[in-house]
Amino acid sequence: MKKRVLTGVTTTGIPHLGNYVGAIRPAIAASRQPDSESFFFLADYHGIIKCHDPEQIHASTLAVAATWLACGLDPEQVTFYRQSDIPEILELNWILTCTCAKGLMNRAHAYKAAVQENTDKGIDDPDHGIEMGLYCYPVLMAADILMFNAHDVPVGRDQVQHLEMTRDIAGRFNHRFRELFVLPEAVVGEEAILTGLDGRKMSKSYGNTIPLFETEKKLQKSVNKIVTNLKEPGEPKTPDESPLFEIYQAFADEAAVAEFTAQLADGLAWGEAKKIVAQTINAELAPLRERYNELIAAPEKIEAILQAGASKARAEARLLLDQVRDALGVRRLG
Ligand code: AMP
Repeated sequence: MKKRVLTGVTTTGIPHLGNYVGAIRPAIAASRQPDSESFFFLADYHGIIKCHDPEQIHASTLAVAATWLACGLDPEQVTFYRQSDIPEILELNWILTCTCAKGLMNRAHAYKAAVQENTDKGIDDPDHGIEMGLYCYPVLMAADILMFNAHDVPVGRDQVQHLEMTRDIAGRFNHRFRELFVLPEAVVGEEAILTGLDGRKMSKSYGNTIPLFETEKKLQKSVNKIVTNLKEPGEPKTPDESPLFEIYQAFADEAAVAEFTAQLADGLAWGEAKKIVAQTINAELAPLRERYNELIAAPEKIEAILQAGASKARAEARLLLDQVRDALGVRRLG
């Protein structure tokens, strides 16, 4: 049996270079491995937990879908779907809610952080402003994963706890009813964390990102904003003096990186260095950007791809869900 790998992407933002280097590029490369079977989904029901702007959810769903396809995800080879198109996931979500200990959710990082924020602000009610979506989302994540009995789930370090919770929830179900669920593993990527324009981690919450598919001209402008020090042209520079180097490294091969390091040591001006960096990023992204723009202009084509993906995913989901319902005693009377 092939190893099943499942990747979900929330639909609340427009992908940036950090997402590309840290998640999209490695996941697509991994999806081409012959010994694995990949599931990719647009997690729009996770998106609505924090984002209450319908236009943003909708626009981001299109942008994220177009990005993955433009970057080379092959919907014939993988199962690519939108979470909200698979009602079976929501059915499983409720079933798992009934096998999930409440105390487990009390310990979830995202919920604890929200409670801590209330405490820090001196608000009496620790649950002030906290909705059940935030509280319960590890169960929805468990449903996403267990619905397809994924073996591996590539995640960031902050998501490892949710995989532990998924294993706990699955284990309880298996023990109480029937051994139906695979206990999935979190796979924490080795990818470097890309630094943003201001030197902190590139993240939409810091507003320091370089959007993945902005025009070549805008890309150069963004790269020009990356922080450097005040060293003049001609003064020797080292790689650790600006995040520019690290971003370059994510797009250039070893020989080019060595040459760039030598040029900096020889006093390359920051302005010139920024031109080299932007050109190198652009060389990789230009063909993808062209495909992205074509896809964005034809949302009905993306919709058709997602509908085909949903049919594939639902057929798979139904098989397992029928067994789950049977195990629970939820079945026809005659
Ligand atoms: P987010 O939308 O911020 O949750 O990011 C989605 C995924 O993109 C994360 O799980 C990471 O794998 C990846 N990612 C986000 N920001 C960065 C970054 N600055 N550097 C590398 N990878 C990142």
